[in-house]
Amino acid sequence: METDKSVTKSSQCKTCKSTIDSNECEYCNSRNIFFSNLNYLRIKGDLERQIIQKVKFGNSPHLSNFFRIGLRKLLPELKKVTYTAIIEIPSSKNTIRKRPIPVCHTVIKFLKEKLGIRILNPFKKKSKELQSGKNFRERFIHAQTAFEIKKIYQNSLSGNYLLVDDVFTTGATINELAKLLLINGADRVDVLVLVKGKN
Ligand SMILES: [Zn+2]
Repeated sequence: METDKSVTKSSQCKTCKSTIDSNECEYCNSRNIFFSNLNYLRIKGDLERQIIQKVKFGNSPHLSNFFRIGLRKLLPELKKVTYTAIIEIPSSKNTIRKRPIPVCHTVIKFLKEKLGIRILNPFKKKSKELQSGKNFRERFIHAQTAFEIKKIYQNSLSGNYLLVDDVFTTGATINELAKLLLINGADRVDVLVLVKGKN
């Protein structure tokens, strides 16, 4: 669970890859970070936003191949760690107009093949009934994340995991999911996102 908060000369946080002015990372120091390393393929700009929208809600699933460009370059870095599995996150937390296409799918399939590891779906969404049965205070306490670990994976994880998601903005959900993996036995959780918000 140790997080390396030291920094590189280029003043980028080793853990969350934020650009930093001093030698302390404001993001990592302001909360408990449960992942060890955040990898990203692109910094979020108009192009990235449009591509994600088109893959998710449009009829252009092939556009997700766009993210493969950065992936090849990142492979040697990912191969430095021995991962037990790639962790997939259940579909979008946002309001869904129509069923979205998982943007990460192409990237996950590519990684599965190149790293020779399996894909795991250990999370499930907490049911709405459970949430609505709680009062405001209880919701505030319990609803840190909309996800929980499926029974069969509870306390039965081991080794290192690579958590893959489409966008990292505040990282709140991803951080909570990393925490859940650690609580249930993971030794280390790294994150790979397609796009990371500017900071
Ligand atoms: Zn940081």
